[in-house]
Amino acid sequence: MAGVCRQRRPLSLPMSRTHNIDKLSGFLGPWRKTFQWLSTLLILLLPWFQPGGKSLLRIDVPTLSLHLFGQVLRIEELFLFLLFCLAFSIAFLLITLLSGRVWCGWACPQTTWNDLAEWFARVMKLEVRHNRLKGAVWRKTVVQLFYLFLAALVAANLIWYFIEPRRFFTNLFSGELPFGIWLTLLCLMLTIFLDLSFIRRLMCKEFCPYGRIQTALVDEATLTLQMPESEKERCIECCSCIASCPMEIDIRQGLQVECINCGRCLDACRKVMRSYQQPGLIRYTLGIDDLPIKSLFNPRSITLLLAFLVINFVLFFSIFTRTDASLKIAVSHTAESRILKSGKQATFFNAWINNRGTHAAIYQLSARTLTSDKVELKGQTDQLDMSAGQNRKVDFVLVSPPAREPFVVEFVLLDQKEQQLAVAEALISPVRD
Ligand code: SF4
Ligand code: SF4
Repeated sequence: MAGVCRQRRPLSLPMSRTHNIDKLSGFLGPWRKTFQWLSTLLILLLPWFQPGGKSLLRIDVPTLSLHLFGQVLRIEELFLFLLFCLAFSIAFLLITLLSGRVWCGWACPQTTWNDLAEWFARVMKLEVRHNRLKGAVWRKTVVQLFYLFLAALVAANLIWYFIEPRRFFTNLFSGELPFGIWLTLLCLMLTIFLDLSFIRRLMCKEFCPYGRIQTALVDEATLTLQMPESEKERCIECCSCIASCPMEIDIRQGLQVECINCGRCLDACRKVMRSYQQPGLIRYTLGIDDLPIKSLFNPRSITLLLAFLVINFVLFFSIFTRTDASLKIAVSHTAESRILKSGKQATFFNAWINNRGTHAAIYQLSARTLTSDKVELKGQTDQLDMSAGQNRKVDFVLVSPPAREPFVVEFVLLDQKEQQLAVAEALISPVRD
């Protein structure tokens, strides 16, 4: 709610008011815009960067794997997925605990696209009020077409995190984009278009769950934007802070859940007060009480930071120390073991081999028993050509002496230099009569 807006001259007060973190007197707008665009461009362009042909971040649905900075984590390595999600969530909690909704105002793509959408509407001489555009119909049509273009770009950008962009465009232009992807793309486009056209800031105010979670996370030292009580007497009631606020709130009324910490009101107030040779009244403080920097190091933040560091250490240690290949073996459910004419036993197996490395490789599979019994493999178990990241199912038969009682066979995956890459065990059971 806006307060009184009746500009008057400021009281003449000393310039030497001190506060803990807001000693800057310049404007934050250029910094915020640079940061916003860098983070939005990073999200837009990240899928295009593929050093060594490997995606930096992509979920490959057909192979159920996560591509993470050149590493491929398969669904079998679920604990790595979970660690990744946990590290990501804790980082978000920590950032929120320390800096409140700074993410929303300074980095969230929703805010950046909204800023761009409203900027374009103003360029087209439309009035932007309460998520509505007012002005000539032809101007609104041009703006809506621009929003449609933005919606297509953002929707495609989201798809690129599942289908690498070059393949996406090749399939798109050759008409080979699967129906499911088309449907997803169109649904995303429609949602984003409606968001840009009719919802915009309402999303941050009412719907975004992060804003609600943030209310529960802030503590007495969280970065806050406010006009301290001690400055109220200096306010000249020009309302520039309200006019500049994209969320249409009056920061002079105190901390509000809708505030995205963007700092526009701070800049607006600094600009006005500068003409009176006075510092601005709105500032970033640590908590309402403007605590010192050391208050950031409290038990909650230290616990979260430690948890974040430990989880990341475990995650990266697990990723970088795992072998270049994995092997899973299971007795076939579709073919029963049997005794051959030679008197030997044939047991049917399925193997799943995964090349986790970043290069193609040729593998071979061998088997050995813990006793001196000789076993051999039938089927294609050598010269297994595997491209980088490929997961391959191999069916084969183990020929062994007839089992009188269950015994263990060890299967070994070897590379071309006969180096052992992975080992898996299986139990050979006697053939049922
Ligand atoms: S009150 Fe200030 S910091 Fe908060 S959303 Fe409005 S302009 Fe941004
Ligand atoms: S911009 Fe500053 S001086 Fe003007 S109303 Fe807001 S807080 Fe008061």
